[in-house]
Amino acid sequence: MSEPTLCCRVGGDYCDRCDVLVGLAGLHVVGVDRDGRDRLIVTVESEAEPMGCRSCGVIAAGHGRVDVRLVDAPAFGRPVWIIWRKRRWICLEPVCDMGSFVEQDEAVVPPRALLTTRACRWAIEQIRREHASVNGIRRQLGTGWRTVWESIRPLLAAADADPSRFEGVAVPSGACQMDCVSGGL
Ligand SMILES: [Zn+2]
Ligand SMILES: [Zn+2]
Repeated sequence: MSEPTLCCRVGGDYCDRCDVLVGLAGLHVVGVDRDGRDRLIVTVESEAEPMGCRSCGVIAAGHGRVDVRLVDAPAFGRPVWIIWRKRRWICLEPVCDMGSFVEQDEAVVPPRALLTTRACRWAIEQIRREHASVNGIRRQLGTGWRTVWESIRPLLAAADADPSRFEGVAVPSGACQMDCVSGGL
C-alpha cells in the first residue's frame, strides 16, 4: 500500500473536517487514500498525551507505534479500512513488570478484533433489519467471510440469549461455498 496522501492538514495540525467525516471519537485523521480495489483507507491516530502505566500508574515512556488495520463500516458507497497508528508505551518503573503496552479503546474496537465496534453494529443491523447475508455484508465491507463471521458470531450468540432483540435473524450454518475471500482480511 502506498503512503497515505495528506488531506487538509496544515502545519501538522489535525483536520477538523476529516475528523467529523470519519467520526471516531478520540482519533484524528492523518491520511486518506484509496487502494486498487476502491477501498477508502483512512489512517488515524490519537493525540499525543502523557499515559500512565496500566499496572502501576507511573507515567510511561513512548515506545513507538503499532499500525493496526481494521475493517470499518462502509462510507460513500465504498468499503473502508482504518489504519490505526496505535501508540505504544513502556513502563520504566523498576518494580513494575508491565513492560510495554499498546493503546486500546473498546468504543473504537475491542482488543484483537478485526472489525470496528461500529462495523459490527452495522453488520448486525444489516442482518437484522435488511435480511442481509454474511456474504453480502463481507462484500460491502471489502473483507473475507470468515473475518465478518468470526466478528459477529459472539454478538449473535449474545442475541440468542435475548431473542426478542434479534427476531428473524438467519444464522448461516457454515462457510460459504462460493464467492468467498479466504484468509484474514
Ligand atoms: Zn481534512
Ligand atoms: Zn508500571
